[in-house]
Amino acid sequence: MAVRRLEPCVQLPLDEKTLKEVVTSARDWALMHGACMRSKTNYNEDILQFAPFALLPSVFPRKEFERAVNIQPILNELMHKVAHDHEFLTSSLKSTIEVDEFTGNMFKIYETVYNEGFAQQEVSLGLLRSDYMVHSYSDSVVKQVEINTIASSFGAISSKLTAFNRYVLRELGHEEKLENLPPNSALAGLCGGMIKAWKIYGNPKAVIMIVVEDVTYNICDQRFHEFYIRENHPDVGVLRRRYSDLKDQAKLTDNKALFVDGHEVAVVYYRTAYEPAQYGGAEGWKTRLLIERSKAIKCPSIHYHLAGTKKVQQALAHPGCLERFITDSAKVEAIREIFTGLYSLDFDEHGDRAVDMAIANPERYVLKPQREGGGNNVYGQKIREVVEKMKSSKERTAWILMERIAPPVQKNYIVRPGQNNLPEPTDVVSELGIFGVVIGDAEKILVNEQVGHMLRTKLSTVDEGGVAAGLGALDSPYLADL
Ligand code: ADP
Ligand code: MG
Repeated sequence: MAVRRLEPCVQLPLDEKTLKEVVTSARDWALMHGACMRSKTNYNEDILQFAPFALLPSVFPRKEFERAVNIQPILNELMHKVAHDHEFLTSSLKSTIEVDEFTGNMFKIYETVYNEGFAQQEVSLGLLRSDYMVHSYSDSVVKQVEINTIASSFGAISSKLTAFNRYVLRELGHEEKLENLPPNSALAGLCGGMIKAWKIYGNPKAVIMIVVEDVTYNICDQRFHEFYIRENHPDVGVLRRRYSDLKDQAKLTDNKALFVDGHEVAVVYYRTAYEPAQYGGAEGWKTRLLIERSKAIKCPSIHYHLAGTKKVQQALAHPGCLERFITDSAKVEAIREIFTGLYSLDFDEHGDRAVDMAIANPERYVLKPQREGGGNNVYGQKIREVVEKMKSSKERTAWILMERIAPPVQKNYIVRPGQNNLPEPTDVVSELGIFGVVIGDAEKILVNEQVGHMLRTKLSTVDEGGVAAGLGALDSPYLADL
C-alpha cells in the first residue's frame, strides 16, 4: 500500500534568494527566542545553538489534530486510574519485572511505598504527553505511538514555535495562512499544573524542585518552566538540583516532609530518572525511594511512572481491558480508535503468535523494550534477528511488539546548526504530541486538562526522530482540511 503524500502549505521549492534570507532570519529568531539546545559535540555551558527546525509548519489534518486534542482528558483519566489500580499494574508488569532490572527496581519501590501507604501524600501530579502519528493505512486516523508520564519534554520550546512559524510565514508573504496555526500554551499549562500541585501541598514556604541530569543539553526547555514560574508566580520558590546531588542533600523529617538544602519541597518535577544510567547505581535508587516515601507531590509518582511503561500500554490494548477503567462506551470507543496493534511477547498463545508475526513480517512492526528517551527500539529486518535470538528465553517478555505506523510524507526544509549549504526540500514525516495535566488521588481527579501540543518532524527515511537526539526537528502543525 502506498503511503499518502500531503502538499506543503507553501509551494516548494522557494527561490534561492528568498530561501537564503528566510533561513538566516529564522535561525536568528530561534536563537534569540531560546528555541535552542547545548551542543553535544562542543559542549560548553556558555553557548547555545538553535535546535534543528522545520522551516515551514508541516501540514497536519485538522480533524486528526482535533481528535488528539479532544481525547487528552479521557487519556488523563485513563492513566490516572491505571496508576491507582494495584492489581492491574502488578499483573501487567509481572513477567516483565522478572527479567527487566530497571522496571523491576521501579516496581520494588512501588511495592514498598504501596505497602507503607503512599506516605502522607496521596496526590500525584501528571504532566503527560501523548504522541501520535497519522496512519496512512487506516483512513488517516492518528495512532498513539506512546504516552509519556515522566519528563515529557518540549512543551516549553514548542510554545515558542507557533510564533516562530507565524514569523516565517509572514516573511514569506503568507499572512492569510496564519489562521491555520493553532495557538499553543503548553508552557503556561504545564507550569499551571505545577502551581496547582504546589497550592494543594499547602505550605507557602515550600518550593517546587526541578530534578535534572548531570549534564543537560535540552536546557532551554527545562529553564523556561523555571523562569515562567518565577516570573508569573514570584511567591513560589523553585529549586533546581541534579539527581546525583540529592543523595547527600535530600532528607526526610519524621513527618515525611522532604527537605533539600534547608528548603521544604512541595512538588518534585523530574526531568531525569527515566533511564537506568541516570540513577548511577544503588545510591540513585535509594534517592528515588526516599523521595517516594516523602509527602512531596511527585511528578511523576512511582505508580504514574509505571503506568507510562510500554508494557502497560500494550496491556491496555488487550480486548476488554479499557472497560475496566472507563465506563462510558463512547469514550472507550474513542480510545480504541487511536490504538494500533500492540502485542505482548509473553509465553502464552498470544505471545507465540506475536513471535511468529514478527519473524514473518518484521517490516510491519516496531519492537520495543521498557525504555524511554529514544534510540532503544528495533526496526525492520533487525527485528527478525532479535526475536529469533530471544524467542526461547525469558528475556522476550520484557519487550512488546507494535504495529508500525506509516505517516504521510510531505516536503519541507530541515535546518540544522552547523549546516553550511542551503537546505533542499526533503521528504519528511511528523509526530504530534499533546500535553495533558492531571492531578488527583486514588479517590478523585482534581484537575484534568489538555494544555497544548508539540510537533516534531524527521526525514521520512529514518526510524526515530528524537529532537534531543539530533534526529528530529522542531515544528508546528499547519492545520488543513484534507
Ligand atoms: P521512546 O520512549 O524512546 O520515545 P517511542 O515509543 O516514542 O519510544 O519510540 C521512539 C520513536 O520511534 C518515536 O518517536 C517514533 O519516531 C518511532 N516509533 C515508535 N513506535 C512507532 C510505530 N509504532 N510506528 C512508527 N514509528 C514508531
Ligand atoms: Mg517517545
